[in-house]
Amino acid sequence: MPEGHTIHRLANDLRRTLSPGPIAASSPQGRFAPGATLLDGAELKRAEAWGKYLFCTFSNEVVLHIHLGLIGKFRPAPIEEAPSSTIRLRLENQTDCWHLTGPARCELITGHEQRLIVGKLGPDPLRARSSVAQFRDNLARTRLPIGAALLDQSVIAGIGNVYRAEVLFLCGIHPGTPSNTLSSQAIDELWATTKRLLQRGVRLNRIITTGAHDMTRPISQRDGDDRLYVYHRTNCRWCGTELTTLHLGGRPIQFCPHCQPH
Ligand SMILES: [Zn+2]
Repeated sequence: MPEGHTIHRLANDLRRTLSPGPIAASSPQGRFAPGATLLDGAELKRAEAWGKYLFCTFSNEVVLHIHLGLIGKFRPAPIEEAPSSTIRLRLENQTDCWHLTGPARCELITGHEQRLIVGKLGPDPLRARSSVAQFRDNLARTRLPIGAALLDQSVIAGIGNVYRAEVLFLCGIHPGTPSNTLSSQAIDELWATTKRLLQRGVRLNRIITTGAHDMTRPISQRDGDDRLYVYHRTNCRWCGTELTTLHLGGRPIQFCPHCQPH
């Protein structure tokens, strides 16, 4: 599933390529035909992400709300490419074209409904006005293991399975630690690390968590195994210890019992 960095990057790219000026909207698949009709000819005024949720506001004050879910994709396509019947929504102007396929949610909502959705989400480290104070309050209220709390979008928005394993490793925190027992210092470090890695994810448009000195290849050229510390790996990159897998928040998480002690 795409994590927050993907959706923020998507919002930036949609804004950059589709505005200003009117866009054409269609639903080659047909399932979003009434919605596409309402968007057709409008201008994209704002595209923004909150965690894994994308909101595009158009000149007619309609908000397009998209959640990609497990298999959804919203990608640029060559403008001359004939749309296939799997495309839920096609947005285009004179120079650029985007195809949305397989989203978990694709709907038109009002600004009020957008505020209700966002009101249920925790702070998003990629948003300028989100604060660590709210993250601290949310963690203080739950005994959930931190490995599960980081996947709860009402605690912090935008983290998925890859980032949660990587930030807990980098902060030396055992994923089973009850959230309400973490020190303020540990929470500040978790927030700052998450923010830094998500920002890098937006810039590179993929998840790379390994530091500048861990690998010989420049960060932007890394792929495959040298991108990550623990996610889907078998041994700790730092101490060589065999990683342990726990099931938290319904998903497996790898951690190093030596570098992330109880
Ligand atoms: Zn280790």
